[in-house]
Amino acid sequence: MNRSTYACFGLPLVVMIFGGWPLASASPPADVIVEDVNIDQYTHVHQDLLHTFMGDNRGFGAEHDSARDDIFDELSSYTQLNVELAPFLYAGNTYHNVVATQTGTDFPDEIYVVGAHFDSVNNPGADDNATGTALVIEAARVLSRYRSPRTIKFCCFDREEQGLRGSKAFVQDHAGQNIVMAVTADMVGHDSGAYGMDFYSKSTSATVANGLGDALDAYGQGLARFMNVGNFGFSDHWPFELAGIPAVVVIERCYSCNPHYHQNTDAVDNPAYPEGDYIDYTMPANLTRAFVGYLVDTLGITLWHDADNDADVDMADFAAFQRCFNKPADTGCTVFDFDRDGVVSIVDMDAFIDGVTGPAGPAAAGQNAPAPKWTGDRAAGATSGPRETIVYVENGLVANPRFTHEFCALRDH
Ligand SMILES: [Zn+2]
Repeated sequence: MNRSTYACFGLPLVVMIFGGWPLASASPPADVIVEDVNIDQYTHVHQDLLHTFMGDNRGFGAEHDSARDDIFDELSSYTQLNVELAPFLYAGNTYHNVVATQTGTDFPDEIYVVGAHFDSVNNPGADDNATGTALVIEAARVLSRYRSPRTIKFCCFDREEQGLRGSKAFVQDHAGQNIVMAVTADMVGHDSGAYGMDFYSKSTSATVANGLGDALDAYGQGLARFMNVGNFGFSDHWPFELAGIPAVVVIERCYSCNPHYHQNTDAVDNPAYPEGDYIDYTMPANLTRAFVGYLVDTLGITLWHDADNDADVDMADFAAFQRCFNKPADTGCTVFDFDRDGVVSIVDMDAFIDGVTGPAGPAAAGQNAPAPKWTGDRAAGATSGPRETIVYVENGLVANPRFTHEFCALRDH
């Protein structure tokens, strides 16, 4: 990378013609990204994919395999994720965790786990634990749109109710690998009066628990937190802690106060709640915001190059980068400080261009915007799009061989 490359970002005329002048986001990435958490999408997953109504059974019942497959399909529809059914044996039968991996762009060997169990005790398990499962899925939908330097494994564990079987198998399968931490959720959608969450972890997991707690304070929109420190072997954080991996489980305040816990009435349409408010969806949605914000800050997740967050990397984003170049990140330029050293430098320009020339994620109709990357392609017959920008850049202002190599041919179109 050299100075002449910078020249291509220093031409306001091009910007005015093709891009306009949107401001780069003035917020750090977490503030921006948590706003992607969508309560309607969360509710859709919880009600339409996870079999959470009276009569449903995700224990050993008819809906167990269907829910598992729906989780697999939903996660597979998100860009960047590599989804697998990870088998394990329990009582002579094979069951599967659903594990969706977002591979880190810079430190792929550092693994962060976001987990919840999707099985139930032969009931609809609307609260226990479709709420945690939908949190994992919504966090995956949001975070997979962005650039994570570190690997995230979104895990929907099976057979928690028989003794944490799925999470134990996951920890065993990853022995010797660098799992940095695990944040998990189990029963996070019923309000027994405190409008809050209990955090359970060992003292050795304090950094994770407190960090996630701080994120709940920052992004949870009033959802309270209560910290519990000790040996709590009742959910999927525990096999991680037993293996020496910092972990925490978040559970609604006083989960045993929920009289429908482990009952057939743990259902979205619980007849004791004629208003349909057995599940208070604001609780898991706000908790999802905390999970997302915490992971963005902790893993150094950034927007790709889409400064105006319109799911299109175009000249407007180039212009935003130009304005940020050589400036401190805290001047509204955090989105471009890819190496997070506090200044938008030539290193960040390199990262910017790396992403711009990378492969594009698929954007299925009606789906979330993919992690935006600019391939230089334009739909056949289209008269606008990134090509003009690239042609202009290539027309004598840029010496970057990647640009000329990738895009030279475009000027002939
Ligand atoms: Zn549970």
